[in-house]
Amino acid sequence: MHQRNAPAGADAVLAMMSEAYVAVTLDGRIVEWNRAAEATFGWSRQQAYGQDIAQLIAPPRHRAIYHAGLLRLADGDPGRLLERRLQLTATHRDGHELPVETVLTITDQVVHALAHDVSAALRGARFTMIEAAVSRGLAEAPTSSNAAARVVEALGVRMGWPVSELWLIDEDRQVLTCTARHNRAGRDLAHFAIGELQPGTGLPGTVYQDGRVRWVPDLGADTTSPRYRAAARIGLRVAVGVPIRTGSRVLGALCVYGDRAEEPDELLIGLLCGLAAHVGQYLERRRAEELAIDLARTKDEFLALVTHELRNPLAIILGTVALFEEEADPEEQAQNLRTIGNCAERLSVMADDLLELARLESGSLTIEMAPLDLADLLIESIATTKFAADAKDLTVRAELPPRLPVCGDPDRLRQVADNMLSNAMKYTPKGGTVTVRAGLDPAAPGWVTWTVADNGIGIPVDERPRLFRRFYRASTALEARIPGTGLGLVITRTILERHHGTIAVADTTGPGATFVIRLPQEPLARSR
Ligand code: ADP
Repeated sequence: MHQRNAPAGADAVLAMMSEAYVAVTLDGRIVEWNRAAEATFGWSRQQAYGQDIAQLIAPPRHRAIYHAGLLRLADGDPGRLLERRLQLTATHRDGHELPVETVLTITDQVVHALAHDVSAALRGARFTMIEAAVSRGLAEAPTSSNAAARVVEALGVRMGWPVSELWLIDEDRQVLTCTARHNRAGRDLAHFAIGELQPGTGLPGTVYQDGRVRWVPDLGADTTSPRYRAAARIGLRVAVGVPIRTGSRVLGALCVYGDRAEEPDELLIGLLCGLAAHVGQYLERRRAEELAIDLARTKDEFLALVTHELRNPLAIILGTVALFEEEADPEEQAQNLRTIGNCAERLSVMADDLLELARLESGSLTIEMAPLDLADLLIESIATTKFAADAKDLTVRAELPPRLPVCGDPDRLRQVADNMLSNAMKYTPKGGTVTVRAGLDPAAPGWVTWTVADNGIGIPVDERPRLFRRFYRASTALEARIPGTGLGLVITRTILERHHGTIAVADTTGPGATFVIRLPQEPLARSR
């Protein structure tokens, strides 16, 4: 039996101490173990007494180090072991490892150790480093997607989260898209790695919608999430999501998924919120830069519009008026009047387009949804162009089902139909063909696909991405000297987006152009 080495009354003092106090004999037997030691290592005093210190609290790979240290002390050759801070790794009773800082001293063949758990301090320091690395990474990121990848990579590589994701809202479509995902352990994410989520759905969707941090302690039991089964299948058990915001606007969510049950941890949530704040600021900065570029470009293109499209008809009007007085032939005078009328018409269309766009963009133009038959609407639109089509010897074909019910604003969708058809006819030379098709999409229930195709002058492939920008006109239209404002498609797209639909130029290389519109039959059900 060992001898108790503490003087009378020392027990009360040891119990009060916030540091773990452990005393061991030179052969490693535990002879003292205070309350703080019980809390730090998880073993009670009774359980600890008489145990070998290395067996009890050293991770198996470190046991030899503990024993070697005790041997040196027993040999009277302590080296640098005594009376200075040492960093050791210990194991808690529940199996997790913890870094401890300890100071040793020796009296009467007994080694006394004061120790405390430094994991929180070390994590704090690591978190500060991660935050600094992320903010540096964001500053240096060449593109937004690269910046997003750096953030999730830091959470995976530096923090050890098996899966981390950054989700951002697509404002036009009102869906969340996964901008970056890091899969640290190379798990098979086939069913887990979805690309889009509706606001309010799953962890990213609820964090986005509520704008609040969410800790999911048991992913497998979170049946509200569309991915709960997929998560359980690949061993993901907990998840934390924090909102990404700028000011009061929520832009998305930063989410991490872990494979160990963990309690909500304020320090970790603090780190994630800090990272999310960096991402929010970064996105705000990029938006401001993009807006500035967009504004400068719009100004240039507006100037081009004013110089060409405004001055041309004005010059013609002024020139024709000058001729008017000299012209005695009533036939010629009538022709001159028609020319002035046409030019005035072009200017009036331009003014209307500009006002229309301003109203749509400011949101002051409301969309009045009602059930309607799109097939009917398209036939009416085609019928009103008959005169213009005949004058240009164009064939306008319709391939439509007998009925195509959708919910939308009849006036606005008619505007889209007229605009698409008039563009196709305007940019197709005499004798050409325009085809309007619409029908339910067999691959996507509830969606309508509507295409307008022509065999006209077409749009060069490299110019297509710029087509939906204000005032942009393709080189083919400019070369053919066909008048226009470059506003019709922007207006069309805005109206379709208000219906939660999309418009794009089809990837065709043949003659002419094909525009593809996709429209949900019930846009109200898709909006928030
Ligand atoms: P606008 O026709 O008044 O110029 P839009 O916004 O309707 O304006 O169209 C933008 C540009 O897109 C046009 O200037 C033209 O270059 C191109 N475009 C649109 N529709 C067609 C089409 N069917 N064929 C060829 N080019 C087209």
